[in-house]
Amino acid sequence: MAARRQTPGLRPALAFPAPRPRLARMTTSAPAEDALVCSARGCRAPAVWALRWNNPRLHDPDRRKTWLACPDHRESLGAFLDGRGFLREVVPVTGSPTLEG
Ligand SMILES: [Zn+2]
Repeated sequence: MAARRQTPGLRPALAFPAPRPRLARMTTSAPAEDALVCSARGCRAPAVWALRWNNPRLHDPDRRKTWLACPDHRESLGAFLDGRGFLREVVPVTGSPTLEG
């Protein structure tokens, strides 16, 4: 009866192949004042990651919600989503002109 059940926990595979953001300098219309901030509660740090997720119970399979994360919260927010099977991808927001809410 002692089923050993390992909690998935943090997978190092949450990593993505190329964390090196490419220079995107085609857009000059990004005002610094409008900086994206982290989605973590109470955090006002600038976001550098976009965690794109989908809750299959609530959303269409193609739907993507986006959480923004600063470097400090990327792991915790990612683990939260990944632990529920919601996390689809994590992409750098640096220089990204489009984000869907
Ligand atoms: Zn944060």
